[in-house]
Amino acid sequence: MSHTAGRHFLQIPGPTNVPDRVLRAMDMPTMDHRGPDFGTLGLRVLDRVRHVFQTQQPVIVYPASGTGAWTAALVNTLSTGDKVLMSETGHFATLWHEIATKLGLDPEFIPGNWRNGADPDAIEARLAEDKGHTIKAVCVVHNETATGCVSQIKAIRDAMDRANHPALLMVDTISSLASIDYRHDAWGVDVTVAGSQKGLMLPPGLSFNAVSEKALAAHKTANLIRTYWDWSDILAANTKGFWPYTPATNLIYGLDTALDMLLDEGLANVFARHDRHAAATRAAVNAWGLEILCENPAHYSSSLTAILVPDGVSADHVRSVILKNFNMSLGTGLGKVADKVFRIGHLGDFNDLALMGTLSGVEMGLGLADVPHQAGGVQAAMEHLKATASSHAKLADAAE
Ligand code: PLP
Repeated sequence: MSHTAGRHFLQIPGPTNVPDRVLRAMDMPTMDHRGPDFGTLGLRVLDRVRHVFQTQQPVIVYPASGTGAWTAALVNTLSTGDKVLMSETGHFATLWHEIATKLGLDPEFIPGNWRNGADPDAIEARLAEDKGHTIKAVCVVHNETATGCVSQIKAIRDAMDRANHPALLMVDTISSLASIDYRHDAWGVDVTVAGSQKGLMLPPGLSFNAVSEKALAAHKTANLIRTYWDWSDILAANTKGFWPYTPATNLIYGLDTALDMLLDEGLANVFARHDRHAAATRAAVNAWGLEILCENPAHYSSSLTAILVPDGVSADHVRSVILKNFNMSLGTGLGKVADKVFRIGHLGDFNDLALMGTLSGVEMGLGLADVPHQAGGVQAAMEHLKATASSHAKLADAAE
């Protein structure tokens, strides 16, 4: 392969760019994962990782991709044939639904058009009908990475409480954790599913279940086979900072450093940074005259923006023109929106000039791919960043 000068722009909505500081932290000799130094590291990481979930409860860390943590959430709390209520927000909700089916659960989908977050009223209505409490869990994807729509978890919790229904609430935060405000404890979530490769700024390979006392109680009686995913085995070993099997040692060094960085920036600043970059991206899309896939502004994602291309245009062609000419990867359309959208990831280790480089590549690519659009998106994003620069800096100063 011939050499391409300069850094590749990885602007998919995860895996995201790994900061050099995290890469350096992982570039270390592998430790004895049963030795005393690892135990000290394990205890420190397990304690601190709870901050990003905004929880005081245990967080279980798996050497697995996010799909593992989806599976773990279900097998640890549910029994064969249990009914699970899910919302069809997009491709990832659909995959989680498929896993539930494969595990022998009975998932029910509240249909969606892949352009909105989950509907709390529809969840409330379905739970209110379920007088016999046969539904054992409500599963929601917080940030649908395929669509760029966010579900309002607090509103869903309130809807469940209004229906006075005891189902567990499970939330996938794989593309929202450490990017979009998320509160495991305050929002009464029972199992939070997360992954390392997005807001946490790590490579793929770690995933997480944050659990509530109610989830731990359900765990005691649930009968699905858990083997590798068993919370009890892991929590027992975690009391001394270890795992029952070989943990992903070097990723855990990286997690320790990523936590230093996130906690140093402050979660409020991390969320504000993502909100601001998302707003600047939308300013660009509006100026181009293109349509944002998410149709409800209250559901706009701060991690990514999915952009519909005009009829007759192939979104994957636009992506390939941009990759070939500008060495930038954008997210492909998935499932029902394949080839209809491209997605700009603006999450993780990301700043104003990285956003401007990204949007410049998109605007030039739209031109090269002959996509009908208006110029001026980059300018509109710059105006937004300029107009909000001082308030952003003030927030950062206040955190110091
Ligand atoms: N859930 C969401 C919201 C995701 O974005 C992804 C992956 O991008 C997954 C689940 C699946 O995670 P993984 O691909 O790490 O198994």
